[in-house]
Amino acid sequence: MMNYHYQLIVFVAIMDDIFKIFVEQLRDGQEKLISEVLPPDFLDISEPNLGFHFPVKVNGVVYIAEHELLMCWSIQTQATIPCNICNEAVNVPVEIENIYASEPLTNIKSGIYNFKELLRETILLEIPHFVECNSGNCPQRTAYAKYFQNTENSSEDLGEEKILPFADLKWDLQSEQEH
Ligand SMILES: [Zn+2]
Repeated sequence: MMNYHYQLIVFVAIMDDIFKIFVEQLRDGQEKLISEVLPPDFLDISEPNLGFHFPVKVNGVVYIAEHELLMCWSIQTQATIPCNICNEAVNVPVEIENIYASEPLTNIKSGIYNFKELLRETILLEIPHFVECNSGNCPQRTAYAKYFQNTENSSEDLGEEKILPFADLKWDLQSEQEH
């Protein structure tokens, strides 16, 4: 009888094979097409402010050009991030179109390239830093605006949280000097 634990091991092994590219199969101009819908677990995220609960769709092609393994792929998924204003979880689309990546063949000593880490990093780089719920109209926005107005004249010292005006930025002066 196949118990759950055994099934899980088989599943993980199959999952890991999905990410493998066998360089030898790409000799003589052969291309490998990638078309996968992956469960997001492989992203292995354990951060309180970032979650992945939607499948990761990957479509692309891998081939050898000169002495490099080249990949061109499109990636689609959704990340779950708290709204910067009200902290409500927001599902944000992550859509990457036809991005290229390359790896010198000399770095692939085993002859097997595993693109799991590359895929993971590519997705994480696309995560927006500022997220607002309700398509940018967080219902808490007005409530917070009132709060900030009320505290503006209070004795509470906001100190370093004040945003400096752009005029203070040094690069602004530098670019003027160059002219
Ligand atoms: Zn919000």
